[in-house]
Amino acid sequence: MLQNKAMHAELRWFVFHTLQRRSPQPGDRGRSLQQKWSMTEPIETVRQHIACSYANLARAHSAVESGLHSYSRTHHMIRARLFKGLSTGTMSMRSLYDDEKVKLNAPKACCYCGATGALTIDHLIPKIKGGTDYADNLVWACQSCNSSKSDIDLMEWCKSKHTFPSLLLLRRYTKLVARYCEQHELLDALLIDVQQRTLPFRLDLLPYSFPALNSLVLWVSAIESQSQVAEGSEQSGEPELPLTLS
Ligand SMILES: [Zn+2]
Repeated sequence: MLQNKAMHAELRWFVFHTLQRRSPQPGDRGRSLQQKWSMTEPIETVRQHIACSYANLARAHSAVESGLHSYSRTHHMIRARLFKGLSTGTMSMRSLYDDEKVKLNAPKACCYCGATGALTIDHLIPKIKGGTDYADNLVWACQSCNSSKSDIDLMEWCKSKHTFPSLLLLRRYTKLVARYCEQHELLDALLIDVQQRTLPFRLDLLPYSFPALNSLVLWVSAIESQSQVAEGSEQSGEPELPLTLS
């Protein structure tokens, strides 16, 4: 519901930028990489890129948290306001405090598949690539997922398995990416330039678009692992990941 002039302004801003959206054309082959990534906003810098992904994540988060299967105008306005604030530096992401609370309050289970047996500690951003040993980079992972993910970027790994991470895991990951870029003074660098650098993560795979809302979850549900169901029997293959791209 529009309640004041500020809300009207947000809506006009969103409508204006939404109207810029169009389908890729054959002549787009020469367009810059960042233009291909988003046909909605003029994404040029790392800050804008992360802001776009994070704002879209917040929109999905809000809808899924409300149990909805489609976006409302309010969700789009949340997204527009957040993108504008983050990309202009007038807003900042909240700290990882809330994310740590989620982790501590969640059932002890693999954050990727929900398995509760044979858990290990995984570096969300691989340690070998520069990920830290600090708690905000550490998550529970079953042996199978940990071994499969290895030193692969989260989004790259999920893409290879045709899955999508839980929204709160993606939020944690996106904050880690943003913090790294801030600490290395990359936020205001041109995206196309930063792409030439070796980073501990796949910046280009930060998602702009998300799977259907009814296939997204805030956090994985804990499930009994195969080893718990058939104790003593040899575990075969990797556990099935619950989130599948539509
Ligand atoms: Zn797992």
